[in-house]
Amino acid sequence: MPTDQSDQSPRPDAAPAVILRQRIDLLYDAVPFSLFGVSTGAILTVWLISHGDPDGVQSAWLATALALSAVRLLGYFYFRRGTGYRAPDRLRLTWALGGVILNGLVWGATSVILFPAGDPQGQVVLAFVIAGITAGGINAVSVFLIPSVLFTALVLGPLMARLWLFESELGPGVALTCLLYAVLLAFSAIRYNRTLIDSLRMRNAREQAEADIVRQAYHDPLTNLPNRRLLLEYLHQDLALARRHGHLGALVFLDLDRFKTVNDSLGHQIGDGLLQAAAARLRAEIKDGDTASRLGGDEFVLLFTELSKDPVDAAYLARQAAEQVRLALAEPYRIDGHDLHVSASIGIALYPSDGDDPDALLRAADTAMYRAKEAGRNAVRFFLPEMQAAAVARMELERALRLALTNETLELHFQPQIDGSGRVIGAEALARWPGSGLTDISPEDFVPVAEESGLVYAFGDWVLEQACAAMGAIRAAPGGARIQRLAVNVSPRYFRRPSFAEDLEFLMHHHEVEPSAIELEITERTLVEDIEDTTAKMERLRAVGVRFAIDDFGTGYSSLAYLKRLPVDSLKIDRSFVRDLLSDASAAVIVTAILDLARHLGLKVVAEGVETPEAHAFLLGHRCDEFQGFLFHRPMTLPDFLSLIAAAPAGAATAGQMRLSPAS
Ligand code: C2E
Ligand code: CA
Ligand code: CA
Repeated sequence: MPTDQSDQSPRPDAAPAVILRQRIDLLYDAVPFSLFGVSTGAILTVWLISHGDPDGVQSAWLATALALSAVRLLGYFYFRRGTGYRAPDRLRLTWALGGVILNGLVWGATSVILFPAGDPQGQVVLAFVIAGITAGGINAVSVFLIPSVLFTALVLGPLMARLWLFESELGPGVALTCLLYAVLLAFSAIRYNRTLIDSLRMRNAREQAEADIVRQAYHDPLTNLPNRRLLLEYLHQDLALARRHGHLGALVFLDLDRFKTVNDSLGHQIGDGLLQAAAARLRAEIKDGDTASRLGGDEFVLLFTELSKDPVDAAYLARQAAEQVRLALAEPYRIDGHDLHVSASIGIALYPSDGDDPDALLRAADTAMYRAKEAGRNAVRFFLPEMQAAAVARMELERALRLALTNETLELHFQPQIDGSGRVIGAEALARWPGSGLTDISPEDFVPVAEESGLVYAFGDWVLEQACAAMGAIRAAPGGARIQRLAVNVSPRYFRRPSFAEDLEFLMHHHEVEPSAIELEITERTLVEDIEDTTAKMERLRAVGVRFAIDDFGTGYSSLAYLKRLPVDSLKIDRSFVRDLLSDASAAVIVTAILDLARHLGLKVVAEGVETPEAHAFLLGHRCDEFQGFLFHRPMTLPDFLSLIAAAPAGAATAGQMRLSPAS
């Protein structure tokens, strides 16, 4: 998935921290070899000095030296190879240097407690070993200068003091030789340290320079947005993904209107400032995963990935996003004390449908942009006129729906649900939008528009409010006591709203509806989109008594695990299965399987879309609990529903009556 890395500001000089880390790593890398040297050195020393027969002190010293090595080895595995590698630098450094200093103390101690007084041969052995240990230590620790000098002093210091103060006339001479040796070692430690650090610095500088070159090659220096090259690369990847997964994306070509005038009249500096400001707005407008790039001059290109699988949906979403960008760019700018107004002409090409390769798509989007210019600038146009028409129609539908919501011209209708004996025991609330023409606009057309625009909340609020009010009225009406519940459809996005449960509880309370009289119909999509949030809300509402039905069951994601975990009360068999029940064997198999599954899980099943007595008989025969469909009743207004329940006595409708009563 291409991501827009454009808002990375120029990187600060990360070198010191990086170099410190590399130095610590080097320090650890030297540990295994030095531990090997230290341990064999310790064994040899004790063996030679004691002539193969160590006394208590010698054995204790050897044990200490070996134990320290073992602990340092564990530290090496933890801090260099294990999880401790992620520990803070300071801790890793302290551990490593602590080991070095303790080791220095252990070896310094040899000249105090192991010194073979009166055994010149033993003294020579000790001096040799100590010289070797010092040299090895300098080599291993030299990435950190002060500790390496300190180590030298700790190891050699006691030996020199001992030789100088307590030994025969030869002592001071040998001590001086040691001093000379120590000074030489210190100098080489300094040089070694400098060389190492310099080479680390050089290596890091080179790596950073290389990264910068790559970055410059793919980004526009003025705005820091991806350039044409990177855009084409992203587009290339995205085209392949879109083809593979069958979804559509949009390539949006943007040209600032009359930018040239600003540049010519106010100068390049202001022009550059304007471009940077426009780039910042683009960056702020796009979603994560989408790309804003600059082709050059005042031309920008946006890449919206994975809009939808449906071309009309994709066109609508692309246009919506492009409109938002157009409005954002049209806001006034203030650059170096000048108030500027610039608009943008925007062209949209959908991929993969409008072009097979990145270049063709770019040309298509460019063509569309010219249409926007021709239409008088500050406009959005599609490459394909059909898409233009579809997106505009969708836009208009959205506008009309907004109006319908404010003018309250939507209606909520009620489709009766009946039980096995034919009694009306509930209803599903269904939204109706009487259009200006002869026919209503189907919820199948306007509910998706609400869901894709911000209207989903206003629409959802309206449905919940109407439904609760209606249920209050039903309960108060004659025959209303027989109506167990009202089913209400809830869109995934609306259900996701943080205040959903609270809002519903308030409405139920306000309209004096007991929560068990409300059944929320959610789809499998709601469940999969955010299972944690869904579970929490379902449990909260279930605790007060609200019921849940899974709508369109069998058409969704069919991960059945949730049925056991979630507080679901019933399943609604999708009407496509019910419709095909008698003509398509697999539909019949699915329906019986759903009924079996529900019985085992103790869930109720409602079959919707029951249109024929045969389907009804089949479902009854398979012990389906409740039914809803044109065979019994079409959705009706609240007054009609109230008279229906008032008229229906406790008895059941007969199949004959049922067939005679399809309203509207
Ligand atoms: P749905 O939830 O599956 O609703 C059942 C649909 O089946 C309704 O279509 C209903 O009129 C229709 N129907 C009922 N019996 C029969 C039948 O025997 N034969 C046939 N062919 N159809 C039958 P409607 O009212 O057009 O609603 C379509 C979809 O719109 C609903 O499908 C639901 O997804 C959505 N919708 C409707 N009202 C609302 C609402 O208030 N909120 C939300 N979020 N979605 C709604
Ligand atoms: Ca439904
Ligand atoms: Ca349904």
